Amino acid sequence: MGYASWFDTHANKHKAIVGKLLKEGYNKEAVIEYFDFENMVQKEPEFCPLYAKNQKCHEMSSLNCYLCACPNFRFDDEGIEQIQGKTKYSFCAIDSKDGRAGVYANKIHQDCSLCQVPHTREYVRKHFEFEWSQIMKKCPL
Ligand code: SF4
Repeated sequence: MGYASWFDTHANKHKAIVGKLLKEGYNKEAVIEYFDFENMVQKEPEFCPLYAKNQKCHEMSSLNCYLCACPNFRFDDEGIEQIQGKTKYSFCAIDSKDGRAGVYANKIHQDCSLCQVPHTREYVRKHFEFEWSQIMKKCPL
């Protein structure tokens, strides 16, 4: 699955969950709390493939899943640029010190595995919209 395909699928899953919660009267803070990893594993097992293994994408005690992926992620499935014969498909817009460019044969993809930026409740509160696609609108190039 390419980035764009994942992005659209994830947007739909996110929208369905938030829509359900809004119908039940959840406010912003309650929605954020609902997206805490421990709750999502129980209530929304289809949201992330790692939930089946009860596995976090990042080892942090309080992991919130509302902003998976990350508003700072930029991607283009067609390739963004060529660097020394390799094609770059994604990067971090804020050049986080905890991210890196991962090189896989002739492809370069942003590696966020050590970055926790979008997974704290504080970050989610700051960038919150009920519409995930709105928060992520700068991601597809
Ligand atoms: S490195 Fe961190 S801030 Fe940058 S795109 Fe990845 S998760 Fe987001």
